[in-house]
Amino acid sequence: MPKTCPVCKEDTLLLKELEPKLFSSRCSKCDGVFISAEQYDQWLHIHGENLPEKPSEESMKIAPAESFGAKFCPECKFMLMKYKVGHKLSFAINRCGHCGGMWFDKNEWEVLKSRNLHDDIHFVFSHAWQSAVRAEEHQTAMDEILRREIGDADLEEIRRIRAWLHKHPHSAELYAYLLRR
Ligand SMILES: [Zn+2]
Ligand SMILES: [Zn+2]
Repeated sequence: MPKTCPVCKEDTLLLKELEPKLFSSRCSKCDGVFISAEQYDQWLHIHGENLPEKPSEESMKIAPAESFGAKFCPECKFMLMKYKVGHKLSFAINRCGHCGGMWFDKNEWEVLKSRNLHDDIHFVFSHAWQSAVRAEEHQTAMDEILRREIGDADLEEIRRIRAWLHKHPHSAELYAYLLRR
């Protein structure tokens, strides 16, 4: 029996092997994908070592078709909750608070895979990951304010200096020197 797509609200979800040994329900209409918590856990187990995250430059250059509005779990009908991915990706993953099933809008899984984040989804729902996402958003907002004030070239320069200072063996002394008036 096909299940109901959280986006299309129609019985359009059909079984599909998303990755070798990772079974999902894919919507034939919107191309979104539902993965149950059990399926994901089993796949993680056979998938082996956690793959190292790839930098955002290597991200698949394709915009996920993020859908908005309330979504309900195809398995248990509970409301899905949004969890921002962060790490320079602008979309959120939906997860059922009841059964732990996960919904990916069209291309979200592929984009996550292009960054090797598809084997970290279970971490995305953690408190630690979510507070890191909020810190990243804050940093981006602060950088944006500074960029508007000083321009791209100077922002690039101060970032370079900061990175150099940060890894310098005498960074504490150098910081102190800079703050001296
Ligand atoms: Zn759909
Ligand atoms: Zn559910």
